Amino acid sequence: MAKVLIVGAGGVSRVATKKCAMNSEIFSEITLASRTKSKCDKIAKEIKDTLHVEIKTFRVDADHVDELVTLIEKVKPDLVMNIALPYQDLTIMDACIKAKVSYLDTANYEHPDLAKFEYKEQWVRDEEFKNSGIMALLGSGFDPGVTNVFCAYAQQYLFDEIHYIDILDCNAGDHGYAFATNFNPEINLREVSANGRYWQEGLWYETRPMEIMMRWDYPEVGIKDSYLLYHEEMESLCKNIKGLKRIRFFMTFGQSYLTHMKCLENVGMLRIDEVEVNGVKVVPMELLAKLLPDPASLGVRTVGLTNIGCVVEGIKEGKRKKVYIYNTCDHQTCYKETGAQAVSYTTGVPAMIGAKMILEGKWSGKGVYNMENFDAMPFMEELDKQGLPWKIIEMQPDETYEVK
Ligand code: NDP
Repeated sequence: MAKVLIVGAGGVSRVATKKCAMNSEIFSEITLASRTKSKCDKIAKEIKDTLHVEIKTFRVDADHVDELVTLIEKVKPDLVMNIALPYQDLTIMDACIKAKVSYLDTANYEHPDLAKFEYKEQWVRDEEFKNSGIMALLGSGFDPGVTNVFCAYAQQYLFDEIHYIDILDCNAGDHGYAFATNFNPEINLREVSANGRYWQEGLWYETRPMEIMMRWDYPEVGIKDSYLLYHEEMESLCKNIKGLKRIRFFMTFGQSYLTHMKCLENVGMLRIDEVEVNGVKVVPMELLAKLLPDPASLGVRTVGLTNIGCVVEGIKEGKRKKVYIYNTCDHQTCYKETGAQAVSYTTGVPAMIGAKMILEGKWSGKGVYNMENFDAMPFMEELDKQGLPWKIIEMQPDETYEVK
């Protein structure tokens, strides 16, 4: 029996809040707070009508530590779940340190004025979390999140040594729009328009955006063009997976998405600096995010599957071994259960499971942690129970899903 305070009321929060309500034997009191209170009230009403669970709601501007501390002291949660945006990670962490309450998020800190995300500024708070006697669990979504847990599971239960990891993120869903993003447009476009990067033998190699494309044959989905991107879980996995020689991350994009993105970039709509229009200061990327469909509205019209997983290669008992550990999710099945498409679903469910791990004491400690720092087994068991079943395909050591 525990109290949680969830901050943020977008697509991912809708799923996480519902899933917490569906596990009310653990999440006995749920409070939802965000910048726009009406969005919290809408989610709370849906949950009250369908699950008959009461959710308290508040308005909070999570950019302000004092405002957050006041709310935390009023609600007195056992855990704060940050499901707002990566820009709020540090303020919410600082509020948790002050109020001495544990913290969880789904994406690593991003500075609003710099299209760059890294764990450095969150890891540096480790000492303060330790001194406050609380824990922070970073990146409890799907990628980062479940992908870290898949790698941890491989390290703890399947391999003696891991040499290569390719994280594959395939969204084969179709929402019928010429261009829309599946989660917060600003965060999504900043991520995919940035330079790519991968890690090999202790060094980072940078690529131009979308420079490296491979065609992967995704089990249950088929062949998709997949582009090498930088993704945050690689920053912690390259430190925490022993014997690792290389880690890369690939994401699928359709041609229409890429053509639109290139065009928007060429005309300056992806800029994150201010421009003045008739005396009004505007950030083009923020304007674009307002014009695009709200990702939370895509659920009803998105059909198809996602397939996200890790190809892990290494050694077991002296022999080469290779596996693909993955989950597939059907957009419409997710929508029927939670009113959200699979990208929000695959993020919101692990956010709830991460919280459950902390509240049940299965994952515990004092300080700042990534997902692979803990025993993967209880989390993997929950994935199966909570709507994200996973599979392992044993591959031949020289087998590849890459299609030349
Ligand atoms: P949305 O844009 O749909 O929702 C974000 C919510 O945060 C909105 O309700 C917004 O309020 C609220 N918010 C923004 N700024 C503040 C603030 N200053 N104070 C309080 N609330 C604020 O985003 P998503 O639901 O799509 O994404 C949520 C998070 O999940 C993001 O951090 C994203 O990066 C992460 N994510 C992680 C993934 C993973 O696999 N790990 C995959 C996909 C997303 P308002 O409505 O008023 O604007």
